[in-house]
Amino acid sequence: MRAVPRQSAERSGSPVPGRAWRDAGWTAAIVLPCALAAILTTRLLGPLALFWPANAVLLGMLLRHPERASAAGWLGALVAFLAADRIAGTGWGPTLWLNLANMTGVAAGYLVATRLLPAGALRLDQPRAMLSMLLVCLAGAAAEALVGGAAGPVLFGRGLVPSLLDWFNGQLAIDILLLPLFLAAPRSRPLDGLVARLRAPSRWHPHDVLPVAALAVSLAVAIVLGGPGVLALPVPALIWCALRYPVFPTLVLTALMSTAQLFAILLGLLRLPDIDLFYLDALLSARLGIALVALGPMAVAIVDGARNDLLHRLDHLARHDHLTGALRRGAFLDRAGGLLAELAAAEEPAAVLMIDVDHFKQVNDRFGHAGGDRVLAAVAAALQAELPRDALLGRLGGEEFAVLLPGAGPAQAGAVAERLRRRVAALPLPDATEAGGPPPAGVTASFGLATCDAGRPQGLERLLARADAALYAAKAAGRNRVEAAGALVADPGSGRSSG
Ligand code: GH3
Ligand code: MG
Ligand code: MG
Repeated sequence: MRAVPRQSAERSGSPVPGRAWRDAGWTAAIVLPCALAAILTTRLLGPLALFWPANAVLLGMLLRHPERASAAGWLGALVAFLAADRIAGTGWGPTLWLNLANMTGVAAGYLVATRLLPAGALRLDQPRAMLSMLLVCLAGAAAEALVGGAAGPVLFGRGLVPSLLDWFNGQLAIDILLLPLFLAAPRSRPLDGLVARLRAPSRWHPHDVLPVAALAVSLAVAIVLGGPGVLALPVPALIWCALRYPVFPTLVLTALMSTAQLFAILLGLLRLPDIDLFYLDALLSARLGIALVALGPMAVAIVDGARNDLLHRLDHLARHDHLTGALRRGAFLDRAGGLLAELAAAEEPAAVLMIDVDHFKQVNDRFGHAGGDRVLAAVAAALQAELPRDALLGRLGGEEFAVLLPGAGPAQAGAVAERLRRRVAALPLPDATEAGGPPPAGVTASFGLATCDAGRPQGLERLLARADAALYAAKAAGRNRVEAAGALVADPGSGRSSG
């Protein structure tokens, strides 16, 4: 197998041996515990472990970190595979043969994923990635079965066909269950999202536990009932999980459930029908069935996740102004109205600001419409940066913005408005050389402020009208200033005026 080019090492000329050791150590650290644990716990009934996750875990980790798939990385994996068998007392013959099969399977899956499939084909936020993933699993399991299955007649006195089928279906089942976890795991710190949710109990709803509870109940029912139908018993609960939870937790639950089913069968807890099968024994047939049944809920999780992402993006686009990122007029009125009603119910004060960029026509005249657009985007960014997190910023139209400050009394709101005014006045205009004119004066904005006291709520329409009247007063008084409805809140005095 060819190593992925190590561009950074080549470019920087950094010592490759250090990297080689690191790659080898990294793959060995993945393979050794997985292989040893499987040999020691599930190689109970015959020469082969009944649950062999090492290959799927190695393949998944290499697909996430292709920079580790150097010659040294592959060598580290091989040494770890061999070491695990030797530690467990396997003879040299089976050790070499079985692990050649393991390496062949992982390499085949890796090559199909990285050389045959187009880039991004395995990103599980796209439903069709399921098919690509299945192809990788099939290729890996088939290559491994061809090498490993041949050991059956030679080393273990088994028939060739059952031996091939055993390898193939065993690896395929585990790949299907485990590989999606590695492909779908969040790129940066997979557990952060979960930890954040656990720390914020308010984001949990009691109903959130119901799908998991249903999953546990379905396993219990399967154990009590027995029979061939048990393999499909968790499907409704898994689909519920898929529709309720994000993709990655659903894939984890699916893999856990399927593994639990497998072990329940191994331990005799789940009773399968005693039927005469052609080549496979009931356990192997069940293993394949469990994995393939799991594909359904996985697909539902991925399709639902992709749909939710799309809806989220569309919703964001519909609510936010493209140029400034502020809420569009309708979205602002909608959300500010709702928020005001909540504040009124909680007897909290609120403040509304109307903001209008001064002499904006002149900015357009001097810098062109594109220059004006950049000024508008910069003004909105400056406002957003200065506003408290819970404030709402909307673009009501043209160069007019509105702000809702929840919980702010007159003094606090006046201080916020004054900070906003200063921040806007400190913005640089587009480069004067672009327009070829004289050095520009800064951009400024005028602010009208209206507040409502706790316990004396006002509707959004009235607050906006009062703030608008105050804005007119600010314009009339010379611009670049804050006027409050009823009283002057801040007088910049020598504050710049763009006029
Ligand atoms: P005042 O200080 O009285 O507010 O003067 P003004 O020139 O800012 O006021 P006016 O409302 O007369 O002009 C606003 C200008 O804003 C007119 C319009 O061409 C411009 N404008 C509105 N929307 C946009 C936009 O999206 N991009 C750009 N570049 N200009 C816009
Ligand atoms: Mg205007
Ligand atoms: Mg204006």
